[in-house]
Amino acid sequence: MVERGSTCGAKTFTGGRLYTYSLRELLGEQWRQAPLQREVDREIISLLTEREAMNIDTTFAEPAGRSFTVLSTPLVEWLAQRCEEVGVEIVPGASVTGLVIRDGLVCGVRTGDEELTSALVIDAEGTNPLVFERAGLVRRLAREDVAVGAKYLFKLSEEEIDRRFTTSDRHGTAMLGMGAITRGLFGGMFLYTNIDTISLGLVVDSASWRKHGHSLVETAEDLRQHPAIARYVEGAELVEYGAHLVYEGSVDTVPQLFGDGWLIAGDAAGFCINRGFTIRGMDYAIASGIAAGETAAAALAAGDVSAIRLSAYKDALAGSVLADMAEVRNAHGWMSHTPDLFTTYPGLAVDLMRDMFTVDGGPLVPVRSTLAAAGKKVPKKLSTALNLVKGVRSL
Ligand SMILES: Cc1cc2nc3c(=O)[nH]c(=O)nc-3n(C[C@H](O)[C@H](O)[C@H](O)COP(=O)(O)OP(=O)(O)OC[C@H]3O[C@@H](n4cnc5c(N)ncnc54)[C@H](O)[C@@H]3O)c2cc1C
Repeated sequence: MVERGSTCGAKTFTGGRLYTYSLRELLGEQWRQAPLQREVDREIISLLTEREAMNIDTTFAEPAGRSFTVLSTPLVEWLAQRCEEVGVEIVPGASVTGLVIRDGLVCGVRTGDEELTSALVIDAEGTNPLVFERAGLVRRLAREDVAVGAKYLFKLSEEEIDRRFTTSDRHGTAMLGMGAITRGLFGGMFLYTNIDTISLGLVVDSASWRKHGHSLVETAEDLRQHPAIARYVEGAELVEYGAHLVYEGSVDTVPQLFGDGWLIAGDAAGFCINRGFTIRGMDYAIASGIAAGETAAAALAAGDVSAIRLSAYKDALAGSVLADMAEVRNAHGWMSHTPDLFTTYPGLAVDLMRDMFTVDGGPLVPVRSTLAAAGKKVPKKLSTALNLVKGVRSL
């Protein structure tokens, strides 16, 4: 395993919530020893206007499917140690600059002047797979297929996080929000509580972002100062920040997944789904890594690393990652063409709540009038209703 970072994990970047079914599949009961942060059992969906927010806040008695907040560096370091234990040789601090291809068969990588030969190559170089792109094995990443993510990591004591989020015993909170925080453009924010840090960030659609020329840094700053968010991170020490591409393609943009002597997994293969209320890339990276590893092992045992043999990889993913991606193939297009999601609807939700809770000594306003008044603010009601039905179908 060749890694350009000084250690495995040194260069990874994520929002911070891992659905652990894939870790269990990889490690069996050993997954419990992984350096995870808090188990999420409080879900908050937030609709934000410029200064206000309406939250849907759920505390489950039993978490809905096991997921934990994570910090990717310690997790990836720990996973790399498990690899070494079973005999994987890790070459850190080495950037792969090209592939060794003989008679059409990929049989190694180049790191500068050096050549490392192998029976086959599994590419897991992340969102922008330049090595495979340069070799002509995957197409160049299109702007429409990626979003840009920015993240802050704030340090706060475990007790203070529990106090602010009314949690205890390493129970975690996940908050996903949308609205004015992305300047009314397609995107959203996330906040995850770790043991003694908070991950806060946003993901924005790169195509519409570029068109409008907003500054990501200023938008991220506005996010941390938003009154509905600032109260969670106030006084906390900013210990890390960064930005990274997030894959947002669909099953239709997934590249060729295998060839003579090669397989491609994780973000490099475009295995990431952002549905607004969940971002999933890490579990798919693990799941596709398992499938690629098993396919490679079977091919090596058979002494055949041809594309025909390695096509078993795609079959292995057909019922899982690829099926999920096919299910939501229209979600990205729908969200990017429905700006009301990020402007009108959050505003309506906040206004509705304000009207319902306003008691000012004037005549009592029945709920039906409040709802009717809110309804009047919905633009083009029929097309809005039809569009929402389309959205529900695509998500
Ligand atoms: C802001 C943001 C929020 C996200 N939130 C979530 C979330 O909450 N939950 C979730 O599941 N997913 C989330 N994701 C997606 C998730 O982070 C990715 O899907 C996941 O990290 C992909 O893992 P990977 O191993 O395929 O790629 P990466 O994690 O990018 O790893 C690629 C590795 O390859 C190495 N590498 C690259 N090129 C070379 C080279 N030429 N030579 C040697 N080494 C190389 C890199 O150094 C790196 O270690 C988020 C992503 C972002 C950006």
